[in-house]
Amino acid sequence: MNIAKNAVVSMHYKLTNAQGEDLDASEEGEPLVYLHGHGGLVDGLEQALEGKQAGDHVDVRVPPELGYGLYDRALDMEVPLKAFPDDARDRLKEGARFASDQPGKPGTEIVYTVVERHPEHLVVTGNHPLAGQTLVFAVDIVGVRAATKQELKHGHVHGEHGHDH
Ligand code: ZN
Repeated sequence: MNIAKNAVVSMHYKLTNAQGEDLDASEEGEPLVYLHGHGGLVDGLEQALEGKQAGDHVDVRVPPELGYGLYDRALDMEVPLKAFPDDARDRLKEGARFASDQPGKPGTEIVYTVVERHPEHLVVTGNHPLAGQTLVFAVDIVGVRAATKQELKHGHVHGEHGHDH
């Protein structure tokens, strides 16, 4: 069958940036399995896979707008360490992540990453680590099947390489 909304797709992939540097890949021998049309992959990749079938190879360059978004400087900020509870401060090292509403915008929780730690403050960013990057995917589609009723209800894949619960 061809990839369409509610198809369960198994695939191997390799992700590099526009400079050809490796960013990510499916694990050796273990395909990535996802439910198509539910935002499991970045938009540009799901669009490129639409209509494809098992055995197909797909090369696609995804611009930031259809990937992890453009880099938004407004999401870079300094936060005083005293804004965090005592027990949280120790773990807020470079690379640590925490979820928080955007300043002055209740209900807009996003994930922030600590970029720099200083004695009194942190420099953090709310941008995804791959924001602003063109994503170059090389995909080999291994399998395509229809989702079960239960998978559709849950919005994720069950069984081998899928969600376990
Ligand atoms: Zn489930």
